[in-house]
Amino acid sequence: MPDKYGSGDGPSAIVVGGGPAGLTAAITLAGAGLATVLVGKRPARPDNRTTALFAGSVTALETLGVWPLCVAQAAPLKIMRIIDDTGRLWRAPEVKFAANEIGIEAFGYNIENFHLVAALERRAGALANLRLVEDEVRSVTPRDDAVAVTLKSGATLTAPLLIAADGRRSLCRAAAGIAVDERDYSQVALTVCLKHTRPHRDTSTEFHTPSGPFTLVPLPGLRSSLVWVLDPAQAEVIAALDDVELAVEIERASHSILGKIAVEPGRGLFPLSVATARRFGDKRIALVGEAAHVIPPIGAQGLNLGLRDAASIGELAIAAQRDGGDIGGDDVLDAYEKMRRADVSSRTLAIDLLNRTLLTDFLPVQGMRGLGLYMIDRIGALRRAAMRQGVAPAAAEPRLMRGEVL
Ligand SMILES: Cc1cc2nc3c(=O)[nH]c(=O)nc-3n(C[C@H](O)[C@H](O)[C@H](O)COP(=O)(O)OP(=O)(O)OC[C@H]3O[C@@H](n4cnc5c(N)ncnc54)[C@H](O)[C@@H]3O)c2cc1C
Repeated sequence: MPDKYGSGDGPSAIVVGGGPAGLTAAITLAGAGLATVLVGKRPARPDNRTTALFAGSVTALETLGVWPLCVAQAAPLKIMRIIDDTGRLWRAPEVKFAANEIGIEAFGYNIENFHLVAALERRAGALANLRLVEDEVRSVTPRDDAVAVTLKSGATLTAPLLIAADGRRSLCRAAAGIAVDERDYSQVALTVCLKHTRPHRDTSTEFHTPSGPFTLVPLPGLRSSLVWVLDPAQAEVIAALDDVELAVEIERASHSILGKIAVEPGRGLFPLSVATARRFGDKRIALVGEAAHVIPPIGAQGLNLGLRDAASIGELAIAAQRDGGDIGGDDVLDAYEKMRRADVSSRTLAIDLLNRTLLTDFLPVQGMRGLGLYMIDRIGALRRAAMRQGVAPAAAEPRLMRGEVL
């Protein structure tokens, strides 16, 4: 039988990829009444990372009905500290950002990806216009009036718009013929969740070390997540430690600010790179999340950008459908490109520069970094501007991030 979303009366949009960016895009479209199919295969390994979601992302998830399903698992981020632990001649002062300085209670919330994705899946499962297909997309063929996808099961789907949320090695991006500017860093991020004896006081602490940042981010109770950026040789040694040895190393590197540490089961190792697609949409295919951009986990920007992608393409596609336009046409994809490019480029550049100033041995560059942080520390207006920019770029904010129902 032809089903509403398969053949015959086809869907308005197909979303490929069931990670957080894809699920958010699918919920946005289906929540506004667009018949949507999400095709996702399960990731090869469990994701033990956490995500610091900034205020705009939390507002969007609240508006989509997702946040109430996971708020109990999230910890507020009220203070963010940067501590120069490079031991170099030109060391920056400690810089502390407090959310109440810019009139907000918290910069955002930190949550385990596992809980975030579970809440998104629950919300997605409750939407009548959203069909979830657990399968792998094997081929994508853009045509003039629609995109066709073939699944591993042999089924085919077509729709006028395809949202590619299939991660950094995106098959859909390749099918759209979109090239990527990509560079590997010689760095690896170790991720692990921790229990500790001292309270974190809703404070995230980023130690800047010569190999990259060592960042502790609060979780509910006496728990935190750690992202430890290391050079590959160091990472190999650290990753080989057993839980007790690793806990000792973490306590040493964190100067015992959280007291005694116990390492929880589940570690991740992520080689770091930066990648930006040359276009964010073409041939009826719009790229969101890591299919569009990958940035190193410094300043917690990656998925916050990905959620703004999902909200933006959702906003444009819904408006086109309501106006009787072509939801996957060039007008929508051009508008999407304009809406996202400055936000993605400026953040990628800032994070790339910050990372390089940490790695460099060139004294004047270390001095510049120290001076920049010194000025941010001393000049209140500069510090407040940096905080506002860090959490939400007003100009690039899609409507969902402002709490508007689409
Ligand atoms: C160590 C680390 C810490 C981070 N911390 C933060 C943070 O604090 N804040 C923040 O904002 N960001 C953070 N990020 C970035 C964030 O984790 C990523 O931006 C986010 O996970 C990307 O989500 P995504 O949905 O785009 O991609 P993914 O999570 O990679 O999802 C892609 C999905 O597509 C599926 N898929 C792929 N190919 C196919 C196919 N052919 N058919 C069907 N399905 C397919 C995959 O199985 C997967 O489920 C961090 C990143 C790292 C490495």
